[in-house]
Amino acid sequence: MSKRRFSTRLLAWFEQHGRKDLPWQQNPTPYRVWVSEIMLQQTQVATVIPYFERFMLSFPDVATLAAATQDEVLHHWAGLGYYARGRNLHKAAQVICDQHGGRFPETIDEVVALPGIGRSTAGAILSLSLGQYHPILDGNVKRVLARHCAIDGWPGTPVIEKAMWLLAEERTPQKEAAAYTQAIMDLGATLCRRSKPLCGECPVAGDCMALAAGLVDQLPTPKARKKLPLRKGVLLVLQNEAGELLLTRRPPAGIWGGLWCFPEGPGGESDDAALAEWCRAELGCDLLSLQTGAAQRHTFSHYHYEVTPLHAHAKAVESMVMDDDSHLWYNPASITALGLAAPVRRLIEQAAID
Ligand code: SF4
Repeated sequence: MSKRRFSTRLLAWFEQHGRKDLPWQQNPTPYRVWVSEIMLQQTQVATVIPYFERFMLSFPDVATLAAATQDEVLHHWAGLGYYARGRNLHKAAQVICDQHGGRFPETIDEVVALPGIGRSTAGAILSLSLGQYHPILDGNVKRVLARHCAIDGWPGTPVIEKAMWLLAEERTPQKEAAAYTQAIMDLGATLCRRSKPLCGECPVAGDCMALAAGLVDQLPTPKARKKLPLRKGVLLVLQNEAGELLLTRRPPAGIWGGLWCFPEGPGGESDDAALAEWCRAELGCDLLSLQTGAAQRHTFSHYHYEVTPLHAHAKAVESMVMDDDSHLWYNPASITALGLAAPVRRLIEQAAID
């Protein structure tokens, strides 16, 4: 077993092999690191890079982000998924302007108090940007610790999580906190990967308990899986005589919260006549044609959602649907910055081609 400390071995490996040229590692201000950490939650580095760069061009600092509309922010988030992250980022920027004079706070308690930032993310922001000592416990770190210490039990269980925080604290060095934080995240992302970890190249393999016990493939213990229920719905892709598409803004909570979407139709089992009646009553439109598109399946954390697009041409018979806060007729050729969910964007592009 190696006698050198875990952190010493990890830092030596990072010096030689760690990632040091990611965009948010250049000029790592708390703001830039914060945005990157939020984008990197549930999203791969390669996917995040172009989103991060576009975001920084449009919102180079907290004040610009706070002053933007939610639509502008969600427009930059479209395709990254988990839109609550974008909404919270926007909200937190406004809190920073209102309560901290526009300067990103520099204590862990103040950072954790911001919308959408948990203990691990706060620790990562402060250590990576300011070199403060804070342990982190994101998905990569949990995987490394679960394997290195052979911890049995799903890391989301409170008792396991508590034990992991203690281990993370013990292993994080007081000095070189920024390099260590990046190093353990890199180890999890590049060597101690979810599948096919590269233990032969790992700097802490000498005392890895999972490796010694032949348990690498079984740790961390996965969460007991429940079968997700399937929900079905329709999206009404309604085009008017000017070629514009009707969009409605979704409520702030729930799937695609706050984003613009096609109307979901009357719900339940409805035939063409019932749908036509609903369109006339609710949207003030007569349906001129109706065509069923191919169903698409989306998986959310609690269910699968199968949506069938109904492509329709419509003629407005009354001025019931106006451009207002929750409805608008959208010209697919325009470059209006709207927050659109990725599947809706795809259907709009398709409608523009058809
Ligand atoms: S030896 Fe393998 S399982 Fe253990 S920490 Fe290193 S990469 Fe992960």
